[in-house]
Amino acid sequence: MMPDVPGEHVTFIGCVGSRTDSIGCCRYGCTSMIGQALKLRRAGKKVRVLYRDIRTFSRESEEMYEQALREGVQFFRYDPDSTPDKVITYPNGAVALNDKLTGVDLSIPTDLLVLVVGLQPQEENVAEQLRVSRSEDGFLLERHPKLGPAEAPSPGIYLAGTVQYPKDVRESIAQALAAASKAGLILSRDTIEKEPITAHLVEDKCIKCGICVPACPFGAIELIGKVKEGQIVFHEAACTGCGNCAAVCNYDAVIMPYFTKEQILAQIDAALAEKPEEKVVVFTCNWCSYPGADQAGIEKIQYPPSSRIIKLMCSARLEEEFIARAFEKGAGAVLVTGCRLTEKGSDCHYNYANQQTFKRFQFWHRKFTRQGIEPERLQLHWNSASEGKEWAAKMREMHEVVQNYAKKLAEGVASGEPAS
Ligand code: SF4
Ligand code: SF4
Repeated sequence: MMPDVPGEHVTFIGCVGSRTDSIGCCRYGCTSMIGQALKLRRAGKKVRVLYRDIRTFSRESEEMYEQALREGVQFFRYDPDSTPDKVITYPNGAVALNDKLTGVDLSIPTDLLVLVVGLQPQEENVAEQLRVSRSEDGFLLERHPKLGPAEAPSPGIYLAGTVQYPKDVRESIAQALAAASKAGLILSRDTIEKEPITAHLVEDKCIKCGICVPACPFGAIELIGKVKEGQIVFHEAACTGCGNCAAVCNYDAVIMPYFTKEQILAQIDAALAEKPEEKVVVFTCNWCSYPGADQAGIEKIQYPPSSRIIKLMCSARLEEEFIARAFEKGAGAVLVTGCRLTEKGSDCHYNYANQQTFKRFQFWHRKFTRQGIEPERLQLHWNSASEGKEWAAKMREMHEVVQNYAKKLAEGVASGEPAS
């Protein structure tokens, strides 16, 4: 039922506040606007729609758009490279614009002006409390766009509806059903089996400094009481095994099963046992960069055999000591790799832990460069699981780096290990 609407002339303006640099398409705006416009037209109003683009993507919306045109709703396109506030004015009860399709300046009598505004994310702190990541535009981020679209990266938290991004009712209900069935899977079990890769605290080494608490991307570490006096508790059920806490602890008070410091250092030593100057020590994560190397193999892409891969669960497990050890042992180069991190977002499987890798890497790069390591011998590279070609290209590039280094070393014009 269309409520009584005053006046004869109704004008809609689409994309108000949407499709700016930081906010995307609201997705439901065009369909909802055209539905309302058609109802008003059928109620005998003179209805105009001022649009930037018409994006009626959901089922039967395109048909509704055509029907609105047939029944006399008039559509005018404002400058699609601008925003309505810049190209539409409202002097003396008439809307003025230049129609881009005809190039004609129009003045449209208007009794009721309807602004079709986009959806803004909630400004509340539940996301911060639950440690759920947000996307660039402020909506909550899913674990993976294809493999985990209804769940947050933190285990046991599910997403449904417009908390994730603007959706129509149909999409919201479909996602809510998916989220409910995922949650049901957990609730229907008496016990939940976890991977055995969870962090263990060595209590007698821990000085309760609390540095590991904010480092954990899943809120799995708690400091009860005051710094240095209280108690540190690792909640095993919430731990996903990224190893970030072990990387930041300066007291070796965190043990990561299967990825202990001793195990990783032993791998570095073994990788550099022979002709270390010709080797690239490559640290990979379990989810993107290591599968990227696998993908290169699956595609049978060849690259020189100078790389020695050491797999971690997350690039955030990396410690400065690992890089230092590699250079002490004479590595030609060290390459840190992980899931993609760009200005638009992160593919990290551990709730943006690779942002911490990025920050630490910048610090390490400056530090090792100051110590005499040539900048190109320590590099960072993001690689997704499907990017076999990109992986092979990076390996070729690093091969060049170590070949040049080995040559300079032989000629006596390059330094060896970092100055202390
Ligand atoms: S960073 Fe290490 S020493 Fe500090 S509280 Fe955490 S586990 Fe303990
Ligand atoms: S391993 Fe990762 S998820 Fe587990 S406690 Fe440490 S930082 Fe948190």
